[in-house]
Amino acid sequence: MTVFDTTLRDGEQTPGISFTFAQKLEIARQLASIGVHAIEAGFPASSQGEQETVKAIADQKLDAVICGLARSRTEDVDVCIDCDVDMVHVFIPTSEVQRVHTIKKTPEEVLDITREIVSYVRDHCELCMFSAMDATRTDTEYLIKVFRAAADAGATIINVPDTVGVYTPTAMKNLITRIVSEVNCPVDVHCHNDFGLAVANTTTAVEAGASQVQVTVNGLGERAGNADISQTVMILESIYGVKTGIKTASLYETSRLISRYSGIGVLPIQPVVGDNAFSHESGIHSHGVIACAATFEPGIMTPEMVGHRRRLTLGKHVGRHAVRQMLTDAHINPSEIEIDRIVEKVKFMSVKGKKVTDADLYEIATTIMGIGNGGRAIELQDIAIMTGNHVIPTASVKALVNGKELVCSSTGNGPVDAALKAILGIVPAKVQLKEFNIEAISGGSDAIGHVNIAIEDDHGHVFSASGSGDDIVLASTEAMVNAINLLQRIRQAETK
Ligand SMILES: [Zn+2]
Repeated sequence: MTVFDTTLRDGEQTPGISFTFAQKLEIARQLASIGVHAIEAGFPASSQGEQETVKAIADQKLDAVICGLARSRTEDVDVCIDCDVDMVHVFIPTSEVQRVHTIKKTPEEVLDITREIVSYVRDHCELCMFSAMDATRTDTEYLIKVFRAAADAGATIINVPDTVGVYTPTAMKNLITRIVSEVNCPVDVHCHNDFGLAVANTTTAVEAGASQVQVTVNGLGERAGNADISQTVMILESIYGVKTGIKTASLYETSRLISRYSGIGVLPIQPVVGDNAFSHESGIHSHGVIACAATFEPGIMTPEMVGHRRRLTLGKHVGRHAVRQMLTDAHINPSEIEIDRIVEKVKFMSVKGKKVTDADLYEIATTIMGIGNGGRAIELQDIAIMTGNHVIPTASVKALVNGKELVCSSTGNGPVDAALKAILGIVPAKVQLKEFNIEAISGGSDAIGHVNIAIEDDHGHVFSASGSGDDIVLASTEAMVNAINLLQRIRQAETK
């Protein structure tokens, strides 16, 4: 069972996505490091730039098979070979609709081209993947003939693409079972997600005997995308008990890397890697999870297995157990009556539509318990920002840090980035920005901006906080200062 990733080829064909050269090299390194068996690096004949990228990826000598895509033309194959790829992936349309409207060839001609191109590849390259494009809408008897021709000509693996995502798991099971028993060659599948069945079709194909799956990170790809690597791998590993060779604990970080580079965010409710995948808000669920995580999680898949974290979140459904757990973690121990009042206040805030952050919870708790806020470690005094189309955004910050006046300046990609970096420059603790999002509370250019951030300290603890105002730079710095003060307060509590 092996995993073939096509984030850099089909994924990059996602409308609106264009990875830079440097990003592509880094993505390839990341994929190899998590144990992806084969990486489709691109379609070299499509442009000079693509050719250079595929060659550069092949030159990295990664611990993965590097594959280049080619139409069934010797010129395309030659360009792949020039890139020093380990595998050439040739494809030809086999369904009637694609055969007639795209390449205008008869079924017999397609069979001839298949034999010729596969043996041409094998004369020049050790590994050849052959795809019958639109296989799932091709007459099955004819499809088997084409695959046999490819296998006889030396294809090292045959790929069954559900090119337009119209197959069902049952149909996939029948088709793969037939191909595996009638064609003497390892079988791979490439499923599209037009009806949301890409992952289900892919994992069913494995059940039926396919030995390789094609996936992309975050399910990127043409139209509705391809089978998502995290979902496919975790279904195979956790439900079917199939070893994929993937270091699953790196799935979350890989998803975030691709999300950053593609500009396509991960939905909170996305399986496996979404922010909510292991989050619990409702009182009943949180209570259960605190007692035993498997009560309201799959159990056979844990956050640790995928490099994610379990989170209890604050909202209108929050219960006493979650609030107590979150405060105990911060060494704050309210009485039963105090807990009731804290929970009531948290619910009140969230019913009013406000996102309740960790900083808000501690503020509420310390106020209700009358224990004071323990002093703010950082008190922002002055901030000056310079930005424009011809200057590098620069921020200078003056703040009292534990009573001492400190000054720091920093440049950044924009005014917010510069300001946050300047603040981090005066912070005694090592922290990293984990999350940052801005929402406008009202419509116009004078809208109030609300900034939610999360920072992570060097022990992996995450603290969320927010800030608002009509100046998003100031709202962002307020959120950052609130988060750092929270972290310092908890640190102090820990040392007491
Ligand atoms: Zn595709």
